[in-house]
Amino acid sequence: MTRTEVVDWARNQYEDLDFTAARRWLAEGPGRKAGGYLPVYAPREVLHASGFLPVGIYGAGDMLETIRGDAFYQSYICHLPRSVIELAQSGRLDLLSAVLFPSTCDVIRNLSGMWKLLYPDVYVRYIDVPQVPDPASALEFWEGELRRLLHDLGQISGRVPSDQDLRGSIALYNEMRKVIRDLYRLRRERPWDLPTEELYLLLRAGEVTPPEEFVLQARRYLAAVEADPRRRRDNSRVIVVGAFCEQPPLGLIKSIERSGCYIVDDDFVLGNRFLVRDVPAEGDPVRALARAFVENELRTAVRYEGDPDGKKRLMGEQVAAASADGIIFATPSFCDPALLDQPMLRGGAEREGIPCIAFKYAENTGQFQQYREQAGTFSDSIKLWGGT
Ligand code: SF4
Repeated sequence: MTRTEVVDWARNQYEDLDFTAARRWLAEGPGRKAGGYLPVYAPREVLHASGFLPVGIYGAGDMLETIRGDAFYQSYICHLPRSVIELAQSGRLDLLSAVLFPSTCDVIRNLSGMWKLLYPDVYVRYIDVPQVPDPASALEFWEGELRRLLHDLGQISGRVPSDQDLRGSIALYNEMRKVIRDLYRLRRERPWDLPTEELYLLLRAGEVTPPEEFVLQARRYLAAVEADPRRRRDNSRVIVVGAFCEQPPLGLIKSIERSGCYIVDDDFVLGNRFLVRDVPAEGDPVRALARAFVENELRTAVRYEGDPDGKKRLMGEQVAAASADGIIFATPSFCDPALLDQPMLRGGAEREGIPCIAFKYAENTGQFQQYREQAGTFSDSIKLWGGT
């Protein structure tokens, strides 16, 4: 397949608000179920081993007018839950037999309560991931939560997974993690060959298609990129920080790239890279999954940070790892976790002399000129004066 064919496939999945690929998968086997999850981290291996197709629920972006969803929320709440409700109230999420709501923030917690009231026939679970300094109690707690989730999902699907089932799902998601790491590595090394617009579409397709299909398409894409090298441009290298939950509209990503910036790291669709290492696919698989979360090295706004200076150092470390020139803080409006972290992150970055800009967006933002101008000026200033 050519690069264009893979990207077209991914774009079709991204734009498909009816979740046709998931519905097709459901129709192809008796007793199959689909289980949704909200951002940021949900243990997809547990859904998968229990006979569910994990389906990421990210809202409708700028592709659906939000009318009913607005009636559920005050004006000072981010856009994501409004468009998730809009999708649900229009019947587009009726394929889901279960929905997991991770403890990302109060908005998602409250959304889980609304779901229980609105859709009493759907299994709703608030995923309370451990946020404590003591790893032993975190491990014990999270392992217990995973076992309860396995039990509940098994009751719904009629397929209580064996350890071997769960190991198989862990191995499959390890493959997915690996190919995503390969995509990110290649983009970091040669961002001119692997535009973020294309990477992002692939990531979003991976949230709504069977994992085997995603891995296959991602490998095809990597092969196609090698066969189709592109011309290097004199762009600045930036990392984008703050977009880990409500996703920016695709037009915003394109605007940043077309303004003269290579995005060399980001936190888009972060859940698929939340576990930075493979999960061991041998031994007790529940304990392995729990341990992978507790011992995970990822540092982000939605994880406990024990080191008071850790957030201040984080941006310098990420910029160095990506050989970046600067940081764009792109944050959903009214996003508490991202906006509460931003002063610490930005303060730490500026302490190290790293150029930064910041703007806010909503997933349904339709005008990109201001972003393009801001990112373009930022890129030029980096090239001319090192960002000062
Ligand atoms: S965008 Fe921010 S505030 Fe809104 S649901 Fe996500 S984490 Fe919570």
